[in-house]
Amino acid sequence: MKNILFSPPDITQEEIDEVTSALKSGWITTGPRTKELERRIAEYVGVNKAVCLNSATAAMELSLLLLGVGPGDEVITSAYTYSASAAVIDHVGAKIVLVDTAKDSYEMDYDKLEVAISDKTKVIIPVDIAGVMCDYDKLYEIVERKKNLFIPNNVRQESLGRITILSDAAHSFGAYRNNVKAGLVADITCYSFHAVKNLTTAEGGAIVWTKTFGMTDDEMYKEYMLLSLHGQSKDALSKMKKGSWEYDIVYTGYKCNLTDILASLGLVQLRRYDQLLERRFEIIKLYSETLNSNYVNILQHEDKNTRSSGHLMLVRFKGFNEMKRNQLIMYLAEQGIATNVHYKPLPMFTAYKNLGFDIINFPNAFKQYENEISLPLHTLLSDDDVIYVSEKINEYIKGLIEG
Ligand SMILES: *Cc1c(COP(=O)(O)O)cnc(C)c1O
Repeated sequence: MKNILFSPPDITQEEIDEVTSALKSGWITTGPRTKELERRIAEYVGVNKAVCLNSATAAMELSLLLLGVGPGDEVITSAYTYSASAAVIDHVGAKIVLVDTAKDSYEMDYDKLEVAISDKTKVIIPVDIAGVMCDYDKLYEIVERKKNLFIPNNVRQESLGRITILSDAAHSFGAYRNNVKAGLVADITCYSFHAVKNLTTAEGGAIVWTKTFGMTDDEMYKEYMLLSLHGQSKDALSKMKKGSWEYDIVYTGYKCNLTDILASLGLVQLRRYDQLLERRFEIIKLYSETLNSNYVNILQHEDKNTRSSGHLMLVRFKGFNEMKRNQLIMYLAEQGIATNVHYKPLPMFTAYKNLGFDIINFPNAFKQYENEISLPLHTLLSDDDVIYVSEKINEYIKGLIEG
């Protein structure tokens, strides 16, 4: 029997060598390698500046803080996402507003989203599920139409003059839509480099932006540096320069910087990234050719001038309910195949129930969830592995139908 993991990291000798040289360099926390990774990410996306932090969660939270979002404000995100997208709203003291998905879609229902906007709404956090970018054209149309409701709290919000689109691009690094890359579309875009993501630094994340909220790129970058390192006017490396001990604390900031050890992983992963993406798309194609499409719906990753980052293989089993879906997951586990579910809608979790959410009000998200299974999709899979997974699924369904 095969042993097929869900999403192991693809680490080569190159990553190991780069980490080793960071360890031997005498500088292991934020320093030259992190700064180099920021430059390379900015170059890859096509922007002036990127900020690296220790997670996408920190990236989104600091972005809300940079925008001055807090108590009394509302921030809208999808019911169909990982907790991070919504938890950061709670962390800054704003009210979480969740929107149901559209029918048969992993994206928010844009009509319901428009209705959810109030004069307290400061930010919308769309989620590029599986690396498929949301309909940002629609999102911008909506925030433009609702511009008259927008009440800015500060000069940064005033300079934009409308709701900010803060993209949860944890899955979508390297994706593009209508030939425009994730990172060049939303006002602010946050990527994740967590261990299971396409490009990994074990833990890590990055921020890029297309708007500067009345600041220059350098000022905005510096603001993120202050927020991420105790509001300290000099980072550890600058403080280390001989005779340069003195610094100021301009406010009580957070502590979520990326380390050079982890940045070294990212530097090599980024060099390999185009190849990694190509392999992901070969795998998606092979799944699409081998899974019996009479019984499964496969999320589309490609369209004219549009391609996801190929992050997750989301398939839905026609006519399955939660119990039938879970039985199939158990069967696949017995066949040595690890799978997952992306996502259990947030209103089904204790924390969100305690905040007053009820899954009854998110019927499309529930339907999307109840028959969904995420199949292994990573660059250590062989073609044989993929065919094995498809065959096991096809056999199982055939068995069900033949009773
Ligand atoms: C992984 C993930 C995050 C959080 O990323 P971290 O880097 O672990 O903080 C946020 N949103 C979504 C949709 C994710 O899958």
